[in-house]
Amino acid sequence: MKTIYMDYAATTFTAPEVVEAMVPFFSQSFENPSSLYSRSDGNRRALAEARAQVAAAIGARPEEIFFTGSGSEADNWALKGAAFAPRRKGRHVITTAVEHKAILETAHFLERNGFDVTYLPVDAKGRVRLDDVRAALREDTILLSVMFANNEVGAIQPIAELGALCREKGILFHTDAVQAVTHVPIDVETLKIDLLSMAAHKFYGPKGVGALFIRKGVVLENLVHGGGQEKGRRAGTENVPLIVGMGKAAELAMAEMESERQRLSALRDRLIAGLREAIPYARLNGPEGMGRLPNNVNMSFVGVEGETLLLDLDLAGIAASTGSACASASLDPSHVLMAMGLSHEEAHGSVRLTLGKTSTEEEVDRVVEALTEIVARRRAMSPLWEDFLKEKAKEA
Ligand SMILES: *Cc1c(COP(=O)(O)O)cnc(C)c1O
Repeated sequence: MKTIYMDYAATTFTAPEVVEAMVPFFSQSFENPSSLYSRSDGNRRALAEARAQVAAAIGARPEEIFFTGSGSEADNWALKGAAFAPRRKGRHVITTAVEHKAILETAHFLERNGFDVTYLPVDAKGRVRLDDVRAALREDTILLSVMFANNEVGAIQPIAELGALCREKGILFHTDAVQAVTHVPIDVETLKIDLLSMAAHKFYGPKGVGALFIRKGVVLENLVHGGGQEKGRRAGTENVPLIVGMGKAAELAMAEMESERQRLSALRDRLIAGLREAIPYARLNGPEGMGRLPNNVNMSFVGVEGETLLLDLDLAGIAASTGSACASASLDPSHVLMAMGLSHEEAHGSVRLTLGKTSTEEEVDRVVEALTEIVARRRAMSPLWEDFLKEKAKEA
């Protein structure tokens, strides 16, 4: 039987049209775009076109897009670049407890280097509260970094309100939009975003290429020092094939955004409803409806270990995840679910299923069927589940 891929939040395949667009730039059009001879003109044009395609996906100007080697690099650049920028005096950065490791580990690095970092809590659905942000603001706050949408539970943050608050207070606003770009509408102007991170491989582009939007006029220290590429802000010979791929992927995904958003939301809701109906005490983690990424489902099944579920799902030919791909090798419960107030057991018993281009109703129904069987079988031998039922009986 064909296997089912439900881990699109970890990475997507590269769309065939994107691969096709990239191929000539590996061999025929190999010239260094920084070279002065006319042979490089085509490559310079290709870079400019990709920059415009990526800019269009977030309502930015092409000259505000700076290509990087990954979403992680864009995140590192935003935080370190803002903290170490010349003329910026503050030592305080605000972020949240539910960020991707690329932000959290960078924030820890800043703490080791003399900065103060506040990690905002979130509500039970995984969203930050504006009042908490206001309370955290200090005279010396330089930056607020809040992800656009969470990679584990799909919670979309109140970005417009956060942007307005930062603009009013005169502090920089960065958002890690790696899960959101081309999946939900983004306009950096109306949302008052100063810095925005993205990665091509989350929207059917190649791995190993990302971008940072830097609003015109924002002063950032460089992360990668060297040659004068990217207007002197990010050194290294431009990775023309991958950048072309990112541009093409952005263009294709934007053309399909509305239809995919509707199609995937319907599949998402079918999956959630199916699991809730078939599995007693199935718990949805994160918000419902519009407040959630169209392709994200994250459920906890009390009495069962998430890792066990993943292995059983794998045997059934279904590729899923417990949360973030980067953390799945560790046995710690998800920092996101813990911040949302789940117990250790609930956090351990969670599965993330993320949908994409190849997902269908038939696949969704097969996953519901498989998970129903797996959870029932695992619960039948689980002392945790037995204890849970006893507690319930006492309550009744
Ligand atoms: C995938 C992801 C990243 C990291 O992107 P890479 O290109 O893999 O470095 C950062 N933030 C979020 C929210 C992500 O989902």
